Amino acid sequence: MRQTALTPGIVAHRLSDEDYAENFADLHPALDAHEAVVAADRCYFCHDAPCVTACPTDIDIPLFIRQIATGTPEAAAKTIFTQNILGGMCARVCPTETLCEEACVRETAEGKPVLIGQLQRFATDTLMQAGDHPFHRAAATGKRIAVVGAGPAGLACAHRLAMHGHDVTLYDAHPKPGGLNEYGIAAYKTVDGFARAEVDWLLGIGGITLETGRALGRDLSLTELREGFDAVFLGIGLGAVNALGLEGEDKEGVRDAVDFIADLRQAEDVASLPVGRDVVVIGGGMTAVDAAVQAKALGALNVTLVYRRRRDRMNASVFEQDLAASRGVHIVTNAQPVAIHGNGAVREIEFEYTDDDLTPTGQTVRLPADQVFKAIGQSLEGDALPALEGRKIAVTGAGRTSIAGVWAGGDCAAGGDDLTVTAVAEGRDAAMDIHAAISG
Ligand SMILES: Cc1cc2nc3c(=O)[nH]c(=O)nc-3n(C[C@H](O)[C@H](O)[C@H](O)COP(=O)(O)OP(=O)(O)OC[C@H]3O[C@@H](n4cnc5c(N)ncnc54)[C@H](O)[C@@H]3O)c2cc1C
Ligand code: SF4
Repeated sequence: MRQTALTPGIVAHRLSDEDYAENFADLHPALDAHEAVVAADRCYFCHDAPCVTACPTDIDIPLFIRQIATGTPEAAAKTIFTQNILGGMCARVCPTETLCEEACVRETAEGKPVLIGQLQRFATDTLMQAGDHPFHRAAATGKRIAVVGAGPAGLACAHRLAMHGHDVTLYDAHPKPGGLNEYGIAAYKTVDGFARAEVDWLLGIGGITLETGRALGRDLSLTELREGFDAVFLGIGLGAVNALGLEGEDKEGVRDAVDFIADLRQAEDVASLPVGRDVVVIGGGMTAVDAAVQAKALGALNVTLVYRRRRDRMNASVFEQDLAASRGVHIVTNAQPVAIHGNGAVREIEFEYTDDDLTPTGQTVRLPADQVFKAIGQSLEGDALPALEGRKIAVTGAGRTSIAGVWAGGDCAAGGDDLTVTAVAEGRDAAMDIHAAISG
């Protein structure tokens, strides 16, 4: 039965099919060939280009833009994939406004950067749509490597090792590969099953055996993998989610934002996903913004994102904050949750205003809520792992852990910034280090 935005409670089918289609359409529609050449022509092809320095995967940006400008997007794609085999996904999800495009000299001079992300997408889509795989495997080395986790870090690592002629077994606990590319990234950033298509394309290199539904700690042990393989790479991400630590957290309607987003990404039909009328999201990062924007896109009447510090301390970029505001999400800052009210199911959530040192002011406010999403960070899951630094796996150099023969990278490893592109860079660099270590 068709509901409306005003229907109380957590219900599905709040919008028309047209509204759902519009709300979940591609955030940045692809450039056509003419638009790409016009955008490429704005590049100064800088020597010592600051955009390259700002890219965690060191893509030669002026070179690939010149290749687009001269009508060879396939060559541009190869330039990108040489450094970043997930260049197609990164073109869609990278916060370019805080990376390459922020550093672009045309941003500094005119406040209007070269559209590096969209040009990268144009080039990579051109080559991938042709079904070509741009690399060949080297002669088989007979070495075997176990890669645990088929997210961006594990995929980048597996691909680079396979290219060097090693045999890779890629394990993942989930039924589908891709990690957060498949289960986490906002639906409007990666439409039309791109995440799965990208993995299939990447596996086209050969030499990678994918085993899904196989979890380290449940079906596999690190000792076993150490004995059975020449090296092991851990790219297991952050599987656990942080709790608020409040009474009433288990009330009906209160759930982790990442689970809500995973359901949304796996839904055959988003219209069938129930969402609250009054939704409150707690957190200030990308996950919080994605949950809030997508709750609104599903037809929630009021979506409020509440963050405990000032707005300029939010982890979500200004672009993302603006996106949330433009989609109708109300952002409240300097407030932290202190109580969840409701009899069985959540009805209201109470916040206390805080200053920037998180000192409570004693002033409280209650927001109506039939659904609350917690987005206050993820943490590492698992035991019998290598030594930790803080709450992540300690690494030195290109991902070497405390256990000889075991490398780690991506979100599970200490030191990174929890971005897709950083996970790719760390997986790739660990692969090069593994290759050097086992080839010596
Ligand atoms: C909701 C959300 C939105 C995001 N949006 C963006 C964005 O727009 N742009 C951006 O740059 N970054 C974004 N990020 C961050 C980005 O997704 C991560 O930094 C990136 O996916 C990390 O890659 P990874 O390979 O280290 O880990 P993951 O992508 O988490 O992959 C880890 C893989 O390991 C598997 N695994 C875990 N434990 C085990 C085990 N014990 N045994 C076997 N397999 C296991 C998992 O199933 C998973 O497939 C977002 C994150 C979230 C949560
Ligand atoms: S900084 Fe901007 S103008 Fe210079 S090479 Fe990079 S994209 Fe081109």
